[in-house]
Amino acid sequence: MNEHDSEIMAGMLEEIGYERKERRQDAEVLIINTCSVRENADKRFFGTLGQLKHRHEDDPDLIVCVCGCMMQQKHVVDTIDQKYPWVDIVFGTNNMHRLPHLLNDLLQSRENGEEKPEREIWDKAEGIIEGLPSERLFRCKALVNIMYGCNNFCTYCIVPYTRGRERSRSPEEILKEICALAEDGVREVMLLGQNVNSYSGEWPCGRKCDFAGLIREIAEIDGIERIRFMTSHPKDISDDLISLFRTCPKLCKNIHLPVQAGSDDVLKRMNRHYTRDMYLEEIRKLREAAPDITISTDIIVGFPGETEEDFQKTLDLVNEVRYDSAFTFLYSKRRGTPAEKYDDQIADEVMHERFDRLVDAIDTISAEKNKAYEGRVERVLVEGPSKRDKRTYAGRTDGFKLVNFTADEDHTGEFVNVRITKGRTFSLEGDLVEE
Ligand code: SAH
Ligand code: SF4
Repeated sequence: MNEHDSEIMAGMLEEIGYERKERRQDAEVLIINTCSVRENADKRFFGTLGQLKHRHEDDPDLIVCVCGCMMQQKHVVDTIDQKYPWVDIVFGTNNMHRLPHLLNDLLQSRENGEEKPEREIWDKAEGIIEGLPSERLFRCKALVNIMYGCNNFCTYCIVPYTRGRERSRSPEEILKEICALAEDGVREVMLLGQNVNSYSGEWPCGRKCDFAGLIREIAEIDGIERIRFMTSHPKDISDDLISLFRTCPKLCKNIHLPVQAGSDDVLKRMNRHYTRDMYLEEIRKLREAAPDITISTDIIVGFPGETEEDFQKTLDLVNEVRYDSAFTFLYSKRRGTPAEKYDDQIADEVMHERFDRLVDAIDTISAEKNKAYEGRVERVLVEGPSKRDKRTYAGRTDGFKLVNFTADEDHTGEFVNVRITKGRTFSLEGDLVEE
């Protein structure tokens, strides 16, 4: 979602005449888009600001803007004002569309010789802003927001506090955007929301549109050949959506279904509203609908009160589901969340030791799964050439596997067939199959 916000900001700036620079040192305007989900990103943000201080002093024309979820937290903005008052523009996620105005106001104030930093944070989102441009990272695929915010309040998570309550875009606006993307050469869309399964849009006539209904509509759009989504909450996945994996050829056979933990006790204290068995039942249904479906997940290690026995249940679950890949996170205490107050926080060394065991288990399975692809021919949407070797290209399979392959011609933006020669832990390698 942050990546897409960055694309939108780049789009807005391009519309008013700015152009993207590849290297940070060449830019006249620097925008740091922050994430508040885990503490590491926080630390990196303040580290980056520290590094920029001297450059800002030396270059009077440089404009430094900071934005993103972190700015929706008052204590962060206070820290910027106290320790980094030289930051030129601060804005949040709710008023991202205001960037061109804020930039303009700053330039005006500089011109008048009264350098005045801009600070504008909106506590609440005021509806949904439609029609913002976007400067896509890839020509052939696009990220599309279908909803904003989250109502789930998982006890570890900061998102509901920084991104606000759940609100769905109208299906009409979404379809309009995707039709325009298709005309612009986009072949694959990734539908974004914190919990896409609870999408609840409304047609102008007042009729409701749920997530499965939305996918059916998008599948009708000429030019769009692949539809993906992220993220779906296991408690809300519907049988209707699962059936689409069987009946809708454009829906990629791939799902990211964050489990977070394998122990019912931990899941309960996380406020996830499903049990291990309920989760496993969803996995069973998904595999019944699409036997080849690739499945990935998110797992948090070291949630307060997690015992060795709880952790074993996570390991067992990983071995049972056999994920294609997984994002693993050390639990990170987030200010203002209920779990911050839990008094049974896990010691760092225990967390790290569990984390290493989990990553080993996941990587072993990923490597075995990818090895099974050797010899297969996969349809790949080509994203572009590799930076290191001009004859190597990267693309993704329907199942979202990253494929690096050699080819004499540039097929960026096209679908090609690739024979897989090697399955590695995080990617596949192969050769182009000439038509
Ligand atoms: N809405 C998505 C998740 C968005 S945050 C969902 O519910 O699936 C992405 C991931 O970050 C989460 O799935 C979780 O695994 C991780 N995460 C969120 N808060 C965290 C925290 N405080 N510590 C560690 N990991 C966290
Ligand atoms: Fe955070 Fe839970 Fe909402 Fe995902 S569903 S964004 S983890 S509160």
